[in-house]
Amino acid sequence: PLTTADLIEDHRICVCVRTRPLNKKELTMKDLDVITIPSKDVVMVHEPKQKVDLTRYLENQTFRFDYAFDDTSTNEMVYRFTARPLVETIFERGMATCFAYGQTGSGKTHTMGGDFSGKNQDCSKGIYALTARDVFLMLKKPNYKKLDLQVFDLLNRKAKLRVLEDGKQQVQVVGLQEREVKCTEDVLKLIEMGNSCRTSGQTSANAHSSRSHAVFQIILRRRGKMHGKFSLIDLAGNERGADTSSADRQTRLEGAEINKSLLALKECIRALGRNKPHTPFRASKLTQVLRDSFIGENSRTCMIATISPGMASCENTLNTLRYANRVK
Ligand code: ADP
Ligand code: MG
Repeated sequence: PLTTADLIEDHRICVCVRTRPLNKKELTMKDLDVITIPSKDVVMVHEPKQKVDLTRYLENQTFRFDYAFDDTSTNEMVYRFTARPLVETIFERGMATCFAYGQTGSGKTHTMGGDFSGKNQDCSKGIYALTARDVFLMLKKPNYKKLDLQVFDLLNRKAKLRVLEDGKQQVQVVGLQEREVKCTEDVLKLIEMGNSCRTSGQTSANAHSSRSHAVFQIILRRRGKMHGKFSLIDLAGNERGADTSSADRQTRLEGAEINKSLLALKECIRALGRNKPHTPFRASKLTQVLRDSFIGENSRTCMIATISPGMASCENTLNTLRYANRVK
């Protein structure tokens, strides 16, 4: 079968979509699935099969991506076609980035595997863990014995991060946590720690985590010099419309900041590897942090757009699909 390595052979960006099954809440509300994945690279948003009150989303909307994962897909499958080929990239002196993008509740954290809250204790098989597993496997090969591994945790620091550039197009982030890790378990512990920072003092873990980007980086070094970097990012929920009219000033500001960073991200991904002079890296902390990952010669990015299948989420789903379409 075709792998993402084949798919992204001649382009630096791989864009995939993943839908999930209707959840309990949606089923209780008698929401209906409006997503069909007729082939491995097509997503259709359509009216539900059952007779229902027809909304204004009558027309079939069809989108084509590098890969479309239906609601039976597993994290391991998604990983194999998205982040897995990028593990090779960082061992070949490259920069790799993998994003989960989508509305809150669509499955970003489920996919990345960073959800250690409450009932979902066992998320050891998300993309974070699978990537860490394969990086450690590669490190065992004789060719790569001389490489050191560091893991950076930019997970929702309460403290503001300061971003510095060293003039050689490398980015340094001041105020983040840096750890040496020896095995996949170390990595998972670090993510868990980051997640507990992410949720402390908040009434609702999801409400908070959906308001910030979680960035997790694996860096390979050879004699102190950077050899490759893998950034794994669970983006803030993209449904910002409501926030901008919120009565709460803090919520409005956060909403505006997220909007700004997601817009900048889109432009920066489109400029990937091209070193365009007018790429808006400075427009947000997120894109500043990722700058060196986007302009390197050997830079590759993968975006996993996650969507909620219910008709109630239709507007957000179409926004997500349009954004992902623009990034291609
Ligand atoms: P997000 O991070 O985008 O806000 P989550 O990853 O927290 O969304 O997912 C919301 C809920 O849906 C969680 O309870 C999660 O376990 C469940 N979920 C998400 N994706 C899937 C999937 N592909 N299969 C089964 N359950 C899923
Ligand atoms: Mg989440």
